[in-house]
Amino acid sequence: MDIGAVDDRDHFRMRSPLRGLLKSTLVHGQAAVWAARGAQPQPGLRILYYHRVGPGNDQLTISPRRFARQLELIERTGYPVVDLAAVVDLRLAPDETAIVLNFDDGYGELLDHAFPALEARGWPATVFVVPGAVDGDTRFSWLRGEQKLLSWDQMRDVESRGFIRFEPHSLTHPYLPGLDVADAEREILGSKQALETALGRPARSFCYPGGYFGKREMDLVARAGYEIAVGCEDGVNRPPWDRFALRRVLVDHYDTRPLFAARLRGATDVPPPGRPRRKLEAR
Ligand SMILES: [Zn+2]
Repeated sequence: MDIGAVDDRDHFRMRSPLRGLLKSTLVHGQAAVWAARGAQPQPGLRILYYHRVGPGNDQLTISPRRFARQLELIERTGYPVVDLAAVVDLRLAPDETAIVLNFDDGYGELLDHAFPALEARGWPATVFVVPGAVDGDTRFSWLRGEQKLLSWDQMRDVESRGFIRFEPHSLTHPYLPGLDVADAEREILGSKQALETALGRPARSFCYPGGYFGKREMDLVARAGYEIAVGCEDGVNRPPWDRFALRRVLVDHYDTRPLFAARLRGATDVPPPGRPRRKLEAR
């Protein structure tokens, strides 16, 4: 199969420490203003997404200790943690909140540093993986040194325990809106077929690489047979679900305890000032 170069515009930009710090300052300011105004917790379906949990100081890595504290904070809210694939049938009353947990790209460290803590609580989570990268046909340019991705064997083993699911994040993590329609379809449908073959069960959810998508990608995802798709637009989701354009809240290296607690209550449901949109409106 012809595997193109991995588009890394998003991850590349995020690697700049100065940019990370600036973004973090804006988000902390946003949460502080929200708290100062005495804002009440906002209900809805809040999908939190992570990348790496383990050692490391880059913006997309959370230490295992901080991750454990964040799970405690979620537990303390009493909000149920639900499976992303179950959102299709989820009935949420106007005053109710539920949490979904996502991990993008399928990093190997999750095996030791994230999954045990989730499984101990019996909480579901969805990890979005890139079959072309798992198979070694393509490589994420942002991977460092010994960093590894989860293998299909590891995924099958984790799934057999019943809490964590793996779902497609395209074949090669490209900038989907930049592809012609045949290539975009191959990324969306092809990654579904590859994952289904490897894991032996239907794939139900899709994650747009870098969160970049428009109506064409939403249509391709629906036609491929997915039930749900997530992007990277900030925000909370309320019924009726916009199920091929679900919003998510990024949790990153700079998430202090007060910021994370505020996020759970809705402090960062609107994008921080200056955050560009990734969902393309008219195409
Ligand atoms: Zn990704």
